Amino acid sequence: MPSKSTVGLYSCGPTVYSFPHLGHMRPYVLADTLRRALAWKGIEVRQVVNITDVGHAVADSDTGEDKLEVAAARELRSVEEVAAMYTRAFLEDMAAMNVQPADEYPRASAYVPEMIEFASRLEELGYTYLLPSGLYFDTSKSPGYGTLALMDIAGQREGERVELVEGRRHKSDFALWRPEEPGKRRVMRWESPWGWGAPGWHLECSVMSMLLLGDHFDIHTGGIDHRELHHVNEIAQSEAYLGDGQPWVRYWLHNEFLVIDSAKIAKSAGPVPRLADLVASGFHPMAYRLFLLGGHYRSQLDFTMAAVEAAQATLRRLVTRVEPLRPLPSVSTLAEAVTLAGDNPATKAYLDQIDAAISTDLATPRILATLQESLRDPALTESGQRLVVAAADALLGLRLGSLELREVEGRASVADLPADEVARIKALVAERTQARVAKNWSRADEIRTELEKLNVQVTDTPSGPVWELR
Ligand code: AMP
Ligand code: ZN
Repeated sequence: MPSKSTVGLYSCGPTVYSFPHLGHMRPYVLADTLRRALAWKGIEVRQVVNITDVGHAVADSDTGEDKLEVAAARELRSVEEVAAMYTRAFLEDMAAMNVQPADEYPRASAYVPEMIEFASRLEELGYTYLLPSGLYFDTSKSPGYGTLALMDIAGQREGERVELVEGRRHKSDFALWRPEEPGKRRVMRWESPWGWGAPGWHLECSVMSMLLLGDHFDIHTGGIDHRELHHVNEIAQSEAYLGDGQPWVRYWLHNEFLVIDSAKIAKSAGPVPRLADLVASGFHPMAYRLFLLGGHYRSQLDFTMAAVEAAQATLRRLVTRVEPLRPLPSVSTLAEAVTLAGDNPATKAYLDQIDAAISTDLATPRILATLQESLRDPALTESGQRLVVAAADALLGLRLGSLELREVEGRASVADLPADEVARIKALVAERTQARVAKNWSRADEIRTELEKLNVQVTDTPSGPVWELR
């Protein structure tokens, strides 16, 4: 549980039934930026990111099969294997994107007894009704239902958002518990007062966040799609459960979608590029992070190869420019940066600009612009530039203090090569030198071609040949 001075942050996590796609990087880069912004202001954060491994039905509906069970059947694996594999893939992508690890990654399947207790309490309080298809939350009993999404409640109740469920009193009512249909045994199943079955999707976030961050906490994040359905339902059930008349969570941040040709990217709509696809095409994950940060989180971001190429080129220029300034000072807070700036007015002005940008609803595009400007500004001393880069990167998280140009360009380092390959390259270079001494030009050219195939470039200098990896 966070102490009073620590901000509690809950970020809706992935449903681990397939590989995360490029759109899935956005909510966690947002949450990471928020964490960096709070740290910048000297505020400690405790973050929880849930792993949805049960309860999320296909099409976000209340009926129908569980996404994980469908994936397990498709891939001929157990649900546990599916969950473990895609959780690992998610965490690997997070690390590659330089997203700081959360303090906790609770799995929904580990909290089902607590979810049953939570739903039982709502039942006792008179917020629910039971149908053959499930235990439903009656949204008409939740006075502020839909406020978060600025919903037209009457319209929403009669809207077309959700599937038809026989007996459901209002279309916005949602399942807290989904019992098994007669004759259809689920793979993941728990016994409950409402029969064997599984929890509704929204329950996990209310239950796990309250257990790990306290009944009320500060900030909740997620994609914009959650604002209309998942989050309004989380709020309705949590405020009913707590019954203290207080808002459950103080602040909500929603990232807009990453889109391709203005179409939403959804995991269910066919293969969507993954981070690994970008990397295989020669892009560095930090170039993708830079691309994401180049758009404000509340604006839709159009994914195009041209934009990612531009981000890769910007990253390359940044790293080239920053490499000679290293080592950068270690800075994570505004206070540290201001202390290091001393009374240098030019440096202080840049720090002010960075602080103003992050304080204006996390305006990362402005921080990027300020960073670029500072690197071109002759009024800044080298130590001033060093500090401005370190301060900007404390918020941007682009690894500007350590990222090497050859990493950005996808070039291997000699240190990464196996010893026998290095020995082979050295032998070829020596043989080429001998061929040149013997004026055997055709053999020397042959060897050069062979070295090129190994990505080795040889340059002849007055003190002999030098070679490097391309
Ligand atoms: P899911 O695994 O579908 O539950 O999604 C995990 C998180 O990614 C949620 O916060 C979603 O709102 C978010 N998300 C899904 N697709 C996109 C996208 N194309 N762009 C931005 N965020 C997305
Ligand atoms: Zn959630």
